[in-house]
Amino acid sequence: MTTPNHYPRLEIDLQKLASNAACVTTYARERGIEITGVIKGCNSIVEAGKAMLKGGCTGLATSRMDQMRRIREAVPGAQTWLLRLPMLSEIEDMVLLSDLSLNSEEVTIGKIEEVCGRLGKQHGVILMADLGDLREGFRDFEAMMALAEEIEFRMPHVVLEGIGTNLGCYGSISPTTENLTELVELARAIEARLGRKLRYVSGGATTTLPLLLKGGVPEGINHLRVGEGILNGRDLMVFWNTPFPGVVADAFTLKAQVVEVKEKPSYPIGEIFVDAFGEVPVYVDEGVRVRAIAAVGKQDIGSHEKLLVRNEGLRLIGSSSDHLILDVTDLAPEARPVVGDVLEFDLSYPAMLYSTGSASVEKVLLNGETVL
Ligand SMILES: *Cc1c(COP(=O)(O)O)cnc(C)c1O
Repeated sequence: MTTPNHYPRLEIDLQKLASNAACVTTYARERGIEITGVIKGCNSIVEAGKAMLKGGCTGLATSRMDQMRRIREAVPGAQTWLLRLPMLSEIEDMVLLSDLSLNSEEVTIGKIEEVCGRLGKQHGVILMADLGDLREGFRDFEAMMALAEEIEFRMPHVVLEGIGTNLGCYGSISPTTENLTELVELARAIEARLGRKLRYVSGGATTTLPLLLKGGVPEGINHLRVGEGILNGRDLMVFWNTPFPGVVADAFTLKAQVVEVKEKPSYPIGEIFVDAFGEVPVYVDEGVRVRAIAAVGKQDIGSHEKLLVRNEGLRLIGSSSDHLILDVTDLAPEARPVVGDVLEFDLSYPAMLYSTGSASVEKVLLNGETVL
């Protein structure tokens, strides 16, 4: 049951999520690409995962094992992927809770083989190639091919399901026809050594969607792992200037209650030192302004810069752990919020990540259920 008066409140429109997923999966499927839905960005709220499956995603992925356990319990039939390279200390849980994992270390895969042997299980691995973004994956492709053979011919419980890459995460490197062609060529080389086809050649995440829309994803890439592009739909618009046709960016709505409205100078009074987070923001003196404080803060959203206002005339100017400060001067006086009013915001990916993980934020599905 929902608590009608609880704020901050995060409302999640599952229909919009399912429809976003359908837009992406349909477009990709027509080009021979399967989509795994990534739900780590919303703390793996399982209903969001179910909406993605309804929208045509063929499996669900997250980066953390506690979230994986929830997914497995809620949708036992779904194919599950662990995205962050597994820790040696979580291999047992991983083998029990996820069907596939992304990997780059022989010692870890050796441990998967050992645990699977003991439990009488099989586990699928995707070997990661680092094509320049410099997060996870092999830079030495010869070593990667050798490990592929080792898995194929000497590890009966580990199934080499494919290879993949991750771009645009650490090194901010864009997926291109060139670097993804490198991945396809690597897959073909491994297939030649194994004498069989690989099930997956996984060409990245949301950041590969703009290239897909431009027709630049090379033949041979048959899988993507997409989170933001379905959940949030904002990065493609903001950073790539290529919104995905049909995807809406307002499936998540944050609601926060106003606790103060006062006229105040816009420039702090006294000696400027550092704010609550040890930073020195830039303050612009615009004279006396009307400001509102809403009861939600960095702990719930990361930073005010990660929220977007829905009404023209509202300006987000600052935040501390528990406070969000807005300039409301540009609203007509009768339209300005008063204490007790509830303001609505759109979220960018970091704000979605923090708010879904914040215990103080009530998460409400638009069918009225509360996410516990
Ligand atoms: C987070 C993650 C994804 C999904 O990223 P989005 O930008 O949300 O699409 C895909 N692959 C890996 C390895 C990840 O860590």
